[in-house]
Amino acid sequence: MIFAPRSCPSRPGFAITTRIFPATVSQYMSVKLTVVGCSPAWPNPGGAQSGYLVEGPGRLLLDCGPGVLARLREENGWPRVDAIVVSHFHLDHWGDLVPWVWGTMAGPGREKPQPLLWLPPGGARRLRELGSRLGFEEMFERTFELHRYDEGTAFEAAEGLTVTAMRLPHYTLQTYGFRVSNGQRTLAYSGDSGPSDRLAELARDADLFLCEATLERGELDGLPRGHLAADEAVAAFEASGARRLLITHRPHELPLDGKLEQAFDGLELEV
Ligand SMILES: [Zn+2]
Ligand SMILES: [Zn+2]
Repeated sequence: MIFAPRSCPSRPGFAITTRIFPATVSQYMSVKLTVVGCSPAWPNPGGAQSGYLVEGPGRLLLDCGPGVLARLREENGWPRVDAIVVSHFHLDHWGDLVPWVWGTMAGPGREKPQPLLWLPPGGARRLRELGSRLGFEEMFERTFELHRYDEGTAFEAAEGLTVTAMRLPHYTLQTYGFRVSNGQRTLAYSGDSGPSDRLAELARDADLFLCEATLERGELDGLPRGHLAADEAVAAFEASGARRLLITHRPHELPLDGKLEQAFDGLELEV
């Protein structure tokens, strides 16, 4: 909302404050989610892996798995993304940061603005290790502006979009879910998680809960648990008070009950 002073016609010399609602204001207040890719740890046919673009007004990418960069390039030649936040270091959630580096160094990403890259504690060190094997040690920090997030500490990841990270159980790997808000609308994203009361806390009263459901049945998971079955995602959603559930990270071979809303690559919605 923009406040602009103008003179008061009945009391010359006084300024009053008028609210101006430009045509873009409703767009400014809303949050748009685009499912760039939603495959599980292996790609669904023709699919990209984890990548969710949140706009409102900044452009924030939640995770950046294989296939995501190609999809983002379809819009504008090279992604217009202000920031990327990585939930954890399984490849299906960060792998396309590697070609993002090469495209920035030698391809169409040259001279484009450097996206912020929000990482969990220890993430920058991990990227240096990975860089030393995949290219060179500083490859990621030369391409992205690295920042660390800490659990429970809200940070403005991109313009107008505040993110709070919450640690979630995912086998033995340090993994986070995110709560993303523009102050008006709130999206919760599970990343990858086994069953936990924390999921309901993450999505408490959110407008949209984007929740994984990789498994056919919970008992097929390893121990400690690392993923959800659809009934477990629904239970977390119902405990959360969130308004809308969107199931994601689902194998093509495991169709959902038709009553559940399922993410697909290219889905766009207002949160
Ligand atoms: Zn995953
Ligand atoms: Zn994972």
